[in-house]
Amino acid sequence: MQPSHTELQLIERLEEEAVQLLTPSEQIEAIAYHFGKIMQTLGLDMDNDSLKDTPMRVAKMYVNETFMGLNPLNAPSITLFDNDYKYNEMILERDIPVYSCCEHHFVPIIGKAHIAYISQGQVIGLSKLNRITHYCSRRPQVQERLTIEIAEYLKQVMNIEDVAVVIKAEHLCVASRGVNHAGCQTLTSSLHGRFLEDAKRSELFAMLTL
Ligand SMILES: [Zn+2]
Repeated sequence: MQPSHTELQLIERLEEEAVQLLTPSEQIEAIAYHFGKIMQTLGLDMDNDSLKDTPMRVAKMYVNETFMGLNPLNAPSITLFDNDYKYNEMILERDIPVYSCCEHHFVPIIGKAHIAYISQGQVIGLSKLNRITHYCSRRPQVQERLTIEIAEYLKQVMNIEDVAVVIKAEHLCVASRGVNHAGCQTLTSSLHGRFLEDAKRSELFAMLTL
């Protein structure tokens, strides 16, 4: 007998929870096994010196690098400082490298993020904006959600509303397969608080083109 719809949902949920309970080293072991199976299925010679360590190499890269942002233990530690000099204009960190992974094709999304905020009494170490971007990028992603996640992360850790995130990226699933159009770029923005006002929005985009 086929399981019912709700039973299937339950099975899926239990599987998801079980996956979440795996330690990073258990994840690496499981991914290496399955990636080896994919390579074998493709007809690759797994005894070949050049290929035999690839499953383990890919598994370590997935868990420790490409998808490290799935593990909440890898969240960046954030330090805030008092805004002693009462700087009350926008702070913009531009051209933060983005290396993410398209969740539909598992190929890279490569681009730049620009993050702006207006202090409400505290400032964040500038490199923390890079670390937040890195952490949110290193997951299977779509660019729209990545843009929103970075903005929400910053709003939450700084307890502020005036945050703007703009991302410009190239998707290798568009550039290197399918339509095969290299050089197309996707732009997304997530604007909050005063950045929704025309004046701040114009100032932001003017600063982005400086
Ligand atoms: Zn894609």
